[in-house]
Amino acid sequence: MSENLNLFTSTQEVVKEAVKKLGYNEAMYDLLKEPMRLHEVRIPVKMDDGKVQVFTGYRAQHSDAVGPTKGGIRFQPNLTRDDVKALAMWMTLKAGVVDLPYGGAKGAVICDPRDMSKGELERLSRGYVRALSDVMGPEKDIPAPDIFTNAQVMAWMMDEFSMIREQNQPNFITGKPIVLGGSEAREQATAVGVTTIIKEAAKRKGIEMNGARVIIQGFGNAGSFLAKFLYEAGAKVVGISDAHGALYDAEGLDIEYLLDRRDSFGTVTTLFDETITNEELLELDCDILVPAASSNQITYENADAIKAKIIVEAANGPTTAEATRVLTERDVLIIPDVLASTGGITVSYFEWIQNNTGYYWSEEEVMEKMTEKLVAAFHDVYDAAEMRQIDMRLAAYMVGIQKTAEASRLRGWV
Ligand code: GLU
Repeated sequence: MSENLNLFTSTQEVVKEAVKKLGYNEAMYDLLKEPMRLHEVRIPVKMDDGKVQVFTGYRAQHSDAVGPTKGGIRFQPNLTRDDVKALAMWMTLKAGVVDLPYGGAKGAVICDPRDMSKGELERLSRGYVRALSDVMGPEKDIPAPDIFTNAQVMAWMMDEFSMIREQNQPNFITGKPIVLGGSEAREQATAVGVTTIIKEAAKRKGIEMNGARVIIQGFGNAGSFLAKFLYEAGAKVVGISDAHGALYDAEGLDIEYLLDRRDSFGTVTTLFDETITNEELLELDCDILVPAASSNQITYENADAIKAKIIVEAANGPTTAEATRVLTERDVLIIPDVLASTGGITVSYFEWIQNNTGYYWSEEEVMEKMTEKLVAAFHDVYDAAEMRQIDMRLAAYMVGIQKTAEASRLRGWV
């Protein structure tokens, strides 16, 4: 069967249903189905060989009804305008699910940072900020790290923005190095968040974390930290993968060794002679499956072959709508991306508060406040799903969009 694999239109479909179920009219959906603003810029960068290469950059700002918009900037090849729009919409949903005073945004530069030098990346990062500095800012739109961007990129961007505004502006961007106003626990926040959500989901499903068999697809920032935290929580990580292949051992993999040997882009399977494919990995035996790589991994084609009891979406959009339906019918619990991957934006919010007040919190304090928010969000969504007899994705979209819809109504926009 042919499925809708377009992230943007498939997200719109769920938003439409959520807005309708919440009792809002057609105009509300019309407002929320697209970002309020989508900026597209050209960024000229002097490359190391002396030639100029011009990159395309985006910033989609979905809604500022609740507060400034917020979301990461990714450096990624093969990304479309529609992907960026979907990603911005997801950030509104995420902020709503964990109840943060933000709307969603997302930025991107079409490039492959794996082929670029550090100097080229710095010039690209600064160029992105120069191109968009008038539409971003601490009370307008606050960026953060995302795929293939990190604390160093945030530092360059913060520095560029501060120079343009002629004053230090740590609150312009989150995910910075600690000495530049970054928050404790931000780097591992996404993975701590996913771990927190997994523990709550396991409790509800009667699965003991100690000895639970977990497969993690993807060994990037989220996937690798996640493997570490789940292993430390007593789970047996039986499978992992990277862009080149996958490893599986029913007795549990040597996670410490794999973490030690991975490179900064998360590649580790190339060190092994015997690997399996990413597709094969998803269908192997486990209790909890965590897709933490790319979208459209679990589709109508392989949904029936999935053996996990819980699927936790640490990546964006890994499960299609059709697969969600098939798996939900089989009583597999799917924790949607907009709930599972909220750890990052939650700690980003704490970082922004710390920058605004100039008072910095301890790691324990950050962890405690994050856990509290995420546990509450999980149960809000779980209970909404139970009460309305709907899947967790639709429930999360309803919880996630409600504040933005209500704020839009009260502002008199709709
Ligand atoms: N890029 C992360 C996300 O998509 C974090 C965003 C943020 O910290 O604002 O959730």
